[in-house]
Amino acid sequence: MDLFEYQARDLFAKHGVPVLDAVVARTPEEARAAAEQLGGGTVVVKAQVKTGGRGKAGGVKLAHSPEEAAEKAEQILGMDIKGHTVHQVMVAQGARIAEEYYISLLLDRAERAYLAMASVEGGVEIEQLAVERPEALARVHVDPLTGIDEAKAREIAERAGFADDVRDEVVRVAQLLWTVYREEDATLVEVNPLVRTEDGRIIALDGKVTLDDNAAFRHPEHAELVDRSATDPLEQAAKEKDLNYVKLDGEVGVIGNGAGLVMSTLDVVAYAGEEYGGVKPANFLDIGGGASAEVMANGLEIILSDPQVKSVFVNVFGGITACDAVANGIVGAIESLKAKGEEISKPLVVRLDGNNADEGRRILDEAEHDLVEMVDTMDAAARRAAELAFAAK
Ligand code: GDP
Ligand code: MN
Repeated sequence: MDLFEYQARDLFAKHGVPVLDAVVARTPEEARAAAEQLGGGTVVVKAQVKTGGRGKAGGVKLAHSPEEAAEKAEQILGMDIKGHTVHQVMVAQGARIAEEYYISLLLDRAERAYLAMASVEGGVEIEQLAVERPEALARVHVDPLTGIDEAKAREIAERAGFADDVRDEVVRVAQLLWTVYREEDATLVEVNPLVRTEDGRIIALDGKVTLDDNAAFRHPEHAELVDRSATDPLEQAAKEKDLNYVKLDGEVGVIGNGAGLVMSTLDVVAYAGEEYGGVKPANFLDIGGGASAEVMANGLEIILSDPQVKSVFVNVFGGITACDAVANGIVGAIESLKAKGEEISKPLVVRLDGNNADEGRRILDEAEHDLVEMVDTMDAAARRAAELAFAAK
């Protein structure tokens, strides 16, 4: 998970990395209040989007009064930066910058180690620097077992060529950044620019942090860093129900058991859709081996609540969980949705194969649901689901 700059700033502050005071604002009025709260002097108004190059895109602006902060926020809010709409800005204490440096920590999978990169020529041209003068960007591997201790931090600072008067402080900050990296389970911590201010302080002025989702279980506190506005609401609902669901762009809802089967179902539906006005799969949903009535109901509920879905293809290959159990799951799901006042209104094409398929089909036959149709083969079922979606478009 990538964090917004203000979230990275908060993590830095938590671990003692020097940062400037800042307040997040969603409106020009809030930006004015934020600037006042920060003392009424010079502030910088910064677009909060999860992409780099905000400065060059006009998403970072200085303001010398609360009034001007509101004006700059007005210009920045709603701006599109590389496809990201700006919904909030961070109003931060303005810094008087003497020098801009660069420092980052990341995972070097090939070397099975971490990699620290640092340069005394940081700022918005760092990518160009890395290409044109790679020697100006020091690269130092970090042993995962020892991390960045003082000696390692000193090696990084010396290799990057930090001057004597700032080196000790850079060494201290590099160790603190390592603490952020390790204790927060990050896969990237980047500070660009790390600045020396005119009064000689070293400050992390911009932070980029990626957290390792695989370590989320160790960090319940990270859950609140998730950007719900950017998460698809259906995916969010599916996640809350522990469903393996990915929203796609088409009209045919897909449910299957087993990731491989579901992926090939997507292909078959897309292929069949070519004949029917180009309809496509609406989602990926793997209900896994169990496929109980409850899981089936949860899955159907998510898929049917997608307004783009016009038909649903349930493709099940009975294995350890036999088709009769799956059929009971489908019938149970339809019943439980009905009980909740969410009677299904879109056609369901069901293909059951494998263990106890005959018994499964008999159960669905007996349930006599108007909108449920059984088709024997995966190809024919995909075609039928595509046809129904096309007809309803
Ligand atoms: P990025 O372009 O997305 O990386 O955004 P940054 O936060 O790194 O800002 C880009 C540039 O704006 C920095 O390299 C600085 O030169 C400048 N900048 C950012 N904050 C301040 C500030 O407080 N004062 C001044 N004078 N310049 C700033
Ligand atoms: Mn930056």
